[in-house]
Amino acid sequence: MVPLPDTPGTYVLLLNLPQPLTVRVGRLGNFTLDSGVYAYVGSAFGPGGLKARVYRHLRPEKPLHWHIDYLLPHTRVLAVYYVTTTEHLECAWNQSLCTLTGAKVPISGFGASDCHSGCPAHLVRLLPPTISQVKSTLHNATLTAKQMFESRQIHHTRGTPSRIVVMGLFSQIEPG
Ligand SMILES: [Zn+2]
Repeated sequence: MVPLPDTPGTYVLLLNLPQPLTVRVGRLGNFTLDSGVYAYVGSAFGPGGLKARVYRHLRPEKPLHWHIDYLLPHTRVLAVYYVTTTEHLECAWNQSLCTLTGAKVPISGFGASDCHSGCPAHLVRLLPPTISQVKSTLHNATLTAKQMFESRQIHHTRGTPSRIVVMGLFSQIEPG
């Protein structure tokens, strides 16, 4: 497995659900999901950064805390994409994935308890996407968001360099 940075960032788990699933998702309730490919978008700003958060997702035994914890045991992680950044890119990434042809939000509010950008959820079901399709979508969303952050900061703080740090963009981690 490729080592992950222990710095803050945004990540996407690309998941395969091999068969339809009825599952309880914490207090959201019970839901039935079609089989297929799902993308879960989150950010890691706690201790240990991306490394701690993503490795927690990949660990099989753990207390059920986040919505995604209820779904992960039934899925296989196909890929993890991340960008190290101190800006919150999760909503930009999530909304860009929602624009892919055939994308659907299966569970309203899933993973979006802390979202203030109007995302219907931070879990999206995708038609089987190609890796390059996901990469280019996230890449474009990152560039657009970065330009927005830069122009906002230039506007407000007169030329302060953007705080965004893009490293290891779209590195793919092979599960296990
Ligand atoms: Zn959001």
